[in-house]
Amino acid sequence: MPADAKQRRIRTYYRALFRTWGPQNWWPAESRFEMIVGAYLTQNTAWTNVEKALTNLRAARLLSAQGIRRAPLAELERLIRPAGYFRQKAKRLKIFVALLDRRYGGSLTKLLSRPTNQLREELLHLHGIGPETADSILLYAGNHPVFVVDAYTRRILARHEILPEQAPYEEIRALFERALTPVAQSVAEPGKTGNQQLPASLPGAAHLPSPMSTAKRTALAQVYNEMHGLIVGVGKNYCRKSQARCDECPLQRFLPPSK
Ligand code: SF4
Repeated sequence: MPADAKQRRIRTYYRALFRTWGPQNWWPAESRFEMIVGAYLTQNTAWTNVEKALTNLRAARLLSAQGIRRAPLAELERLIRPAGYFRQKAKRLKIFVALLDRRYGGSLTKLLSRPTNQLREELLHLHGIGPETADSILLYAGNHPVFVVDAYTRRILARHEILPEQAPYEEIRALFERALTPVAQSVAEPGKTGNQQLPASLPGAAHLPSPMSTAKRTALAQVYNEMHGLIVGVGKNYCRKSQARCDECPLQRFLPPSK
């Protein structure tokens, strides 16, 4: 499929999903630091487990840079245990705060104010941060215009024969960023075209608005934010790994003829 046709397809999917579900209110967090902790904790686990770990940290009054800094490692491990890989994740959170202290005097504002590419490189060099986590932090904590590629994105692209599931991360990111740039203006006022929310009983439904989801950001960052949330909605509710529920999916009419 030619590159411009792929981009048109992505734009069409964005519009179809946004018309159906409206704003998804990502990321569900009260603060930038909470968002970052959530991005670490969500690696290789379901969000419901992350919520339990975040609740524990909040109850222990440790859901802050200062909290992670002063918490003994064993205590941190115990609190985030519900999120899985808790030893690894506790260490990684400590490493993140150590970087924050060493290079930015403990200031998230200073860290997140770095130019996008420099900050991305710095995050990617940190232990335990791959491109998906780095881009999540850039987009959702820093409001940098960077698209987040996850496993759902790959699965949908592959099932719709747009790109193979193993396509390089950067190729997928570039495709979405090029495709969505022209529609950024049209979503500058989120909520205008959304007319329906996912039923609350479904996993992966839209989140309630939070200080992070309603933070001021550019139209471009907003459209990347929405598209990622919409893709998560498709992946969690319809485009499952073991079984695709195409009959009920809003993207069903865009399936290639071979499917
Ligand atoms: S569930 Fe079916 S229609 Fe929906 S995205 Fe997946 S493959 Fe496409």
